Amino acid sequence: MLKQTVVAVMVTFAGLGAAAGAGAQSWHEAHLDAQKPRPNQPLPPLDAHPVVAITVDDLPAVGTLPPGEDRVAVAKALVSELKANGLEGTYGFVNTDKLESRPGAPQALQIWLDAGMNIGNHTRTHMRLTTNTAEAFEQDIAQNEPTLRQYGEVRDWRWFRYPYLEEGETLEKRRAVRAYLLEHGYRVAQVTLEFEDYAWNDAYCRCRIKQNEAAIAWLRQNYLDTAAAYIKLGREEEQIVFGREIPNVMLLHETPFTTLMLPDLLDMLRKQGFSFESLAQVESDPAYVEDPDAGSESGGTLPGQFMDSRHLPYPRANPDPFQQINQLCQ
Ligand SMILES: [Zn+2]
Repeated sequence: MLKQTVVAVMVTFAGLGAAAGAGAQSWHEAHLDAQKPRPNQPLPPLDAHPVVAITVDDLPAVGTLPPGEDRVAVAKALVSELKANGLEGTYGFVNTDKLESRPGAPQALQIWLDAGMNIGNHTRTHMRLTTNTAEAFEQDIAQNEPTLRQYGEVRDWRWFRYPYLEEGETLEKRRAVRAYLLEHGYRVAQVTLEFEDYAWNDAYCRCRIKQNEAAIAWLRQNYLDTAAAYIKLGREEEQIVFGREIPNVMLLHETPFTTLMLPDLLDMLRKQGFSFESLAQVESDPAYVEDPDAGSESGGTLPGQFMDSRHLPYPRANPDPFQQINQLCQ
């Protein structure tokens, strides 16, 4: 079952035009592994006033489009919701090869920037570090820069998000790429909260075509329920790793379904007591100076990488709705 989930996730990535490598594990496999040891002691209650920076990956075009929608409409809806919540300055991580290959992508990126949002580097081709050399990966970072410079102008675009959150399966590779990023003035945009928000999008498009409103309602609720469970997991991992909750960075993707769900997701975060801060404010916390400094096939969030590198017991198993989602509206 776990393997099927991993395959499904990789198919989704491949559908996004990314270079999905064979044999690599998805990071969430670790979270879903019910055999992991659990801590003996209950964790303390969660903070009443957590903090999060929202970030959006795979700009300017990602995921299947539902009937009648285009990239421009998705970008307009996304920035409109971010602005309505005072989230100007939100970072979007860009693969510039999509500007040439996806209709509407240049306009979508311009809409993002005109709305006062920021951009960062996500490699030119969404390269997978685990299946490529450090040199090839660094070249892909560099080849993304001229277009980022052109679009980003005076903005601080030297923030880097690793595709698939893979930071190198060997310590040598991890250190090589981190040294390259440091040398070229980049900061790593780490992630603490992640729930594979892109995984509902294909099912949503299928259900739209079939006009299956009941299935769409289920997808919406399942997206929020799964997000809530993974957000709790991320915060509990911080308690275990850092002895406290740290200011968070949430990873989302610019898919039509996440764009549709953003109002409900932000509303849920507010009801949980979250307030929103910028990526730079969040990463000024000392926790972000720490480095797991360990090779990892699956990579993952910052607390997740520490959990793995220190062999810490996982808080609990999390819901695995992904097979069900992939079977919906087929
Ligand atoms: Zn990505």
